[in-house]
Order: sequence, then structure tokens, then C-alpha cells
Amino acid sequence: MKNKETNDTGNQPNQSPQPNQPNQRPNNKRRFSFYWIYAILFAVLIGLQFFGRDPVTQPKEIDQGQLIEMLKKEEVAKIELINREDAEIYLNHKGLTYNNLTEVKTDSEGKSTTPNYTYKIGSLDRFEEMVENAQQDVAKPVYISNVRRNNWMGSILEWIIPLALLLVFYIILIRGMGRGMGGGAGSIFNIGKSRAQLYDKNTNVNVTFKDVAGLEEAKVEIMEVVDFLKNPEKYTKLGGKIPKGVLLVGPPGTGKTLLAKSVAGEANVPFFSLSGSDFVEMFVGVGASRVRDLFNNAKAKAPCIIFIDEIDAIGRARGKSAITGGNDERESTLNQLLTEMDGFGTNSGVIVLAATNRADILDKALLRAGRFDRQIYVELPDIVGRKEIFEVHMRGLKLGNDVDKEFLAKQTPGFSGADIANVCNEAALMAARKGKEIIEKQDFLDAVDRIIGGLEKKNKIITAEEKKVIAYHEAGHATTSWLLQYAHPLVKVTIVPRGNSLGAAWYLPEERQITTKEQMYHEMIATLGGRAAEQVVFGQISTGALSDLEKVTKQAFAMVSYYGLDEEIGNLSYYDSTGQQDYSLTKPFSEKTAETIDKRVSVIVEKAYQEAIAILTDHRDGLSQLANKLIEEEVIFGEDLERIFGKRPWGNSEDEKLKNAALKAAENQKENQPEQEPENA
Ligand code: ADP
Repeated sequence: MKNKETNDTGNQPNQSPQPNQPNQRPNNKRRFSFYWIYAILFAVLIGLQFFGRDPVTQPKEIDQGQLIEMLKKEEVAKIELINREDAEIYLNHKGLTYNNLTEVKTDSEGKSTTPNYTYKIGSLDRFEEMVENAQQDVAKPVYISNVRRNNWMGSILEWIIPLALLLVFYIILIRGMGRGMGGGAGSIFNIGKSRAQLYDKNTNVNVTFKDVAGLEEAKVEIMEVVDFLKNPEKYTKLGGKIPKGVLLVGPPGTGKTLLAKSVAGEANVPFFSLSGSDFVEMFVGVGASRVRDLFNNAKAKAPCIIFIDEIDAIGRARGKSAITGGNDERESTLNQLLTEMDGFGTNSGVIVLAATNRADILDKALLRAGRFDRQIYVELPDIVGRKEIFEVHMRGLKLGNDVDKEFLAKQTPGFSGADIANVCNEAALMAARKGKEIIEKQDFLDAVDRIIGGLEKKNKIITAEEKKVIAYHEAGHATTSWLLQYAHPLVKVTIVPRGNSLGAAWYLPEERQITTKEQMYHEMIATLGGRAAEQVVFGQISTGALSDLEKVTKQAFAMVSYYGLDEEIGNLSYYDSTGQQDYSLTKPFSEKTAETIDKRVSVIVEKAYQEAIAILTDHRDGLSQLANKLIEEEVIFGEDLERIFGKRPWGNSEDEKLKNAALKAAENQKENQPEQEPENA
């Protein structure tokens, strides 16, 4: 997987300024947001409601006693009952004078034209009764008149406020989403725009082929693609067609992204870079629209290269996930990509580069000729490649004299480029932690251990009894692997707990391309050596062998059902390289065959286990010596095994010779071709 943050080449085009990013918007000019208009309108409405009243004519609220008093004194002109809830009291001339309300507007009879007091009514009946009773002795009693009044403003506000709140909430949500998606899109209107970053001659991309170690064939092929773009006539004048897509396939961390970035640095043509997941959005139709936008931008800049990292995010085979149902959005995005790739006329000068580590799950339509018709395999580096990757990543490090790249390359079989970059970084950190001025060989070895096994857990509590079991378990692995011709020779055993494991044995795997039945079998015996040692020494077994058993079971299953290495099943393989089988619920073999496979797997594992027990019983003494040394020192190396059991008669001298020859050949090639620059037309 891409780990862009930890890219320690120091060359991070993603972080360099992007003057040409298509959907970039200058941030320094603050735009006037018209949401302010809504806010102002809203404030005015509320203001009118509360402040638009004249303080003089504003009626005051009175209580029952005051009202009765006024009625008795004949100060009241009329009582209006508003909506059967409030009473508004208008005073006559006498009342106005008496209550000092001389500024109030009056009619010709001197009665107030606006209400002077209000009274909140509890019960309507009681109110009427109270008004009647208060005026028993009054000659000209006032009567209550009913008025129905609509409070427009109040009801409108009642509607508007929740609506406005909802709207504000929605806007915040959408804007937040826009920002979260990055790419400067910022607003909902840009959602269908492509997220690709553009690198061209104005952008400073400082990754070049020099930063990519090994991968010579891939570099040559990629440069050929660049040449297609730059000199298309050379190819088209003979009637040839320019390829449209190149797929970089390989395990994670092998430098696919790095290679693509270096093309941006080397090619001198505009380079659009994005990841497959950039097309994915929670809204339907966005992915397809982004694909269209991307290709439109690219065509405008042709000749150019589009790089889609992790293309499996959208390129997964369509209609396969039977259980979860189809993912329509992803499929329509893929469909759009398929049409665009075949849609832009041939020779239009856009080449799509894509990277994936799961070429097997890609849709077949994507891989057909005319789309990604070229595939470049980026493999895990071999010993020569690893040495070169160490060289690249050690460039910036302060190294001690004892650091030997060749030795380190031998110690790191199966490591990817990213792992090696990590080893170099980790070694530097470890040396710094110890306060050293330079990084020494031991720091690199510790870094390798740490990356394989995790950090040492010094304070994990392990009883003496447990420690003994762990020591014998690991010694069992070490002994069996040492004594079997085809098992990988041991480099180091430790019983220092790291990460999840309580102990570990490191082997030096041969870099083989094919494995024989014998080799697989011997490896299984060595893997079972741990449990067998527990059985031989203590007479009982423990749960400590879980991962061993898992490994052995898988290996035996693969021998029987995939590799055709079992005589009873014969030369059959039930392996499905298309990956279709993962989704089907039925097995490609009959129940009877399933039974046979189960039986054979268990027979093979049992046979290996018995063999391990036999070896360890024969070498009981050596096993005990080794275990005791482990308990004492916690770490033992191949040399200790040699001292106890003697040199391995087979050794791996042949292997060593081959590896050394490969390294020497690579060295010579370099010397003879001083600084070979890949052809850069
Ligand atoms: P992926 O194949 O998954 O795309 P990357 O290209 O992202 O892998 O590699 C991750 C990191 O590993 C790179 O940034 C680089 O530091 C290191 N790396 C991988 N392969 C090489 C290589 N061949 N030469 C130098 N560095 C490499």
C-alpha cells in the first residue's frame, strides 16, 4: 500500500506547491457570501417584531384588582377580548387623566384609540362574571366585545425559524463534506470535478529514475510509453497504434507509485495523478462525472499521462459480489472509465498509467487489448535489487564503516522496497535513540528484527516454567531445520517476546522460483519442530503452536489441492487464478474428493510431525544444550547451532555462490556502463 506520509525519499510531489492544479481557487480573496443577506433579513424581521412598537402606546399588563378598581370608578371605555385569551382595555377621558396617560391618541369623545392595558384571562366565564360584578353599581357598564386577530408575524416566524435552522444545518453539512474531500473542491458544485493533481513543467517534481532502484525492465518499458507520446509519428507512420493504457502490477511496496512519480519527473509531459478512491463518493453519479472531467482536462493538455493509483478501488470486476449485491455507483464509474479509454480516438495523446496489487480482481474488460493492453510486472526485489534499494535509501544517512549493504541485502529476503526504506529509517531512529553519531550495522540488524517481529516487550511477564517451554519450542524449530537438508537454514532464534509472539526463529530462505515436494515437506517438519520438542521433552503440548499449525495446515492443503503434489489426489489443481471462486458457495470438487483432501492433509501433517519427533528424540542432547543456551542468553545464532550439531553437510554453499555471482555481475554491469541514463527522448 502506498504510504505517502512515510515516504522517506524526501521527494514528495504531493506536498509540493501545485500552481497548475485544475480545480484550485485562489484563497486570498474573500468572497462575499450571500448567506449574509439571509442573516440580515432575519435580523430585521425579529427587530420589527420587538422594537417596532411605540413605547407610549405600548399597553401595560394589569392584575385583576386594578381592573376591578378601574371598572368601579368608570374609567374604562371598552374591553376587547382578543382571541379569547387576552383582554385589551381602552380607557375613557377620565381614566386617561387619572392614570396620567395624556399623550395617548384619543377620539372626539376623549376615549383612547389604542389599548392602554392588557389583562391575561384565566377562565373566560370567571372573567365575564368578574366584569359584571365589578360594575353592579355603575350606571353605564361596559360590555366585553370579542375580536379575532391573526398574529401573522408570529406564525410566520414559527414556520421560518425551524426551516432556517434546517437550512443552516444542511449547508454546514455539505460544506464540511466538501472540505473533507480535499482537493480544493470546497463546495457542492465542484463535487463532480476530477480530483487529479497535475504536474507539468511548472511543477517541481523531484523524483527521478535515480530514486528508483532496480526495476530496469519496467523503466525501459515506461520510457518507451513516454516516447510514444513525444514522437507519435515515429510509430504511427507505419500504421501502428499508440497503446492507451499501461498497468503496473505487483505486490505492495515494490515501488509502483514511485515509478509513476518518477515518470512525471522524467517525461516532461503533463502528468495527472490521482488514486482510484478519488472517484468514489457517497453520491451516485459523481464517480462517472469525475472520470469524464479528468479525461476532458487531460485531452486539453495532450500529450499527457494520467496516473491512477490503486485502480482496483474502481476496477474490481463488475457484478461479482453476490452477497452484498452490486455496487452500482462503482460499476457506473468503471463503465465510464472503460468508455473513456476506448472513447478517446486513437493517438489522441493521452496514456493512462495505473497501479494495482490485485490485478487478479480487475474487470476483464479493463485488461482487454485497447485499454490496459500492457502490463508491467513490478516484482519483489531480488538480492541485487535489495542492495540497490539500500544504496538509494542510505544516501542521506550517516553510516558507520561496518555497514555492509550486501550483507544487509542477504539478511532481508522477501522484503519489499518499502520495507527496506523502513529498515533504513528505523535504523537511523534507533541510532539516534541511543545517542550515536553514526548508524552502525547493529542498528540495521535491530531494525530488521523490529520490522519482522515488532518491538521487544521487555516487561512482559513470563514465568520460569513458561520460558523453559518457549526455549524448547524454539530450539525444536532450530534443531529440525538445521538437520534437514531442504529446510531453510537458521539465522537467529530469540525468546525475547516481541509484538504478539513469545519467541521467534529467523531463517534465511533461499530465493527459489520453484519448490519441490521434498522442500515443502522439510519445511513442514521444521515448522512442527516446536510442538514436537514440547512433546519429546515435557510429554505434553501447549497452545503455543497455533501459528505453526496454521501454517502447516495451509501448506499441506496447498500441496494436496493446488500443487498436485499428493499421489492420491494426483496431478489435479483446484486453484482458480481468476479469483471467481472466492465468491462462489460451491467447491470445484465433489464431496468425496473433499473427504480425500481432508484425509490426505491430515496424513501429511501427521507424518511430518512424527518425523520431527524422531529427529528430536535422536538429538535430545543437542536440543537440551540449545534450549539451555537460549534460556541463558535469550538469543542464539547459526554459529551456536554449528558448534552443537556440526556444520550442515549440505550447507548452502551452492546458493551462496549463485548469489555472489549475481551480485558481482550486477556490479560489473554498472562499472562498464558509467551512469546509464535511461533513454529520454
Ligand atoms: P507501491 O508499489 O505499493 O505503490 P510505493 O511506490 O508507494 O509502493 O513504495 C513505497 C516506498 O517504498 C517508496 O516511497 C520508496 O521509499 C520505497 N521503495 C519501493 N520500491 C523502491 C525502489 N525500487 N527503489 C527505491 N525505493 C523504493
